[in-house]
Amino acid sequence: MTIKPENKISELKNLKLYRFLKTIDSAQDVVVRFEGKNLVNFSSNNYLGLAIHPQLKQASKEAVEKYGTGSGASRLITGSMSLHDELEKAIAQFKGCERALIFNSGYHANIGVIPTIAGAGDFIFSDELNHASLIDGCKLSKATTQVYRHNDVAHLEELLKKSSGTNRLIITDSVFSMDGDIAPLPKLLELAEKYDALLYIDEAHGTGVFGKKGCGVAEHLSVNLAHPRLIQMGTLGKALGSFGAYVGGSSALIDYLINKSRAFIYTTALPPAVLAASLAAIQLISKDTSLKEKLWQNISHFHSQFKAKDRLPAFLSPIIPIIIGESGRTMEISQGLFERGFWVQGIRPPTVAEGTARLRITIMATHTTDQIDKLIGALEKLI
Ligand SMILES: *Cc1c(COP(=O)(O)O)cnc(C)c1O
Repeated sequence: MTIKPENKISELKNLKLYRFLKTIDSAQDVVVRFEGKNLVNFSSNNYLGLAIHPQLKQASKEAVEKYGTGSGASRLITGSMSLHDELEKAIAQFKGCERALIFNSGYHANIGVIPTIAGAGDFIFSDELNHASLIDGCKLSKATTQVYRHNDVAHLEELLKKSSGTNRLIITDSVFSMDGDIAPLPKLLELAEKYDALLYIDEAHGTGVFGKKGCGVAEHLSVNLAHPRLIQMGTLGKALGSFGAYVGGSSALIDYLINKSRAFIYTTALPPAVLAASLAAIQLISKDTSLKEKLWQNISHFHSQFKAKDRLPAFLSPIIPIIIGESGRTMEISQGLFERGFWVQGIRPPTVAEGTARLRITIMATHTTDQIDKLIGALEKLI
């Protein structure tokens, strides 16, 4: 029988799980233009507002003038340009690791690295709330993947104990993308040492946001960034306002990935404009932490003004989930917020577990307190 997409679509619509693209007609700013209407954006991962920062734009323009628009080939053919090299060195320094390697996106990095370091016969231990790209990396790896309860180190240890005599890899988001909470990295690293495992952390939402220098949750929790068991992955398209991703670790690891990671090898290298913007972002946040400070002030402001405290998570994070439960109701509230001038994305299964559909609010450094107060007012009427 052939696949009938139209039947599948009807099914999704009945389940209130149908998705469609909403195209904005402006830059990725605090206020975005959608269908002729201005909406205050509370659903962007552009946490620091860097996606429209003049310094990043200028760096991109200069890179286009000097190096053109395309890289023309994959990294191992003729696509490696001096900007790749410069960016990788800057990332390694920023992340405190021996060496870093750029991937074309976070998705590429996760499906490219995990299967390269874990294979048939090996064991992966994966947090149950890990990002889809990590889950896909595990699937591609052919290793035995064991899912441990969210942030439950005792459960993880139980599983590790039962898996003696194999190569082991522990994988976790550092900031969980739909919940906003952080992983207990020091404890995970302790377990990695105790059970001779590697620890792979995904700092997609940590980079630029957590830590004194903005280097991520690992820095925030005082993890030894050069720890031989630690592999740090992160993205350049969220707080850093550009595009792409990186993996940081030992020189030997990076050398091995260059030789073996299919998602690194078989794809055209990132273009100059993107690399230059990433480099400018790292230089900017390394020198100036004021945007990060403003972001955390805004997060605190949201928490202090929002009255229904039992609806809020107990921790501070730029990702604030408000759990509604049912998908239809979640999308109705999201629509209600739209009508009042706010873009707050509703998140439904399979992105989150059945019965935990939610509004996922993200705070940016560039929101004004007035915008945050007005969102809270609208939320309190609708939820
Ligand atoms: C966004 C995200 C990714 C994917 O990164 P892209 O660069 O957007 O492909 C990977 N992991 C996590 C935790 C993410 O939130």
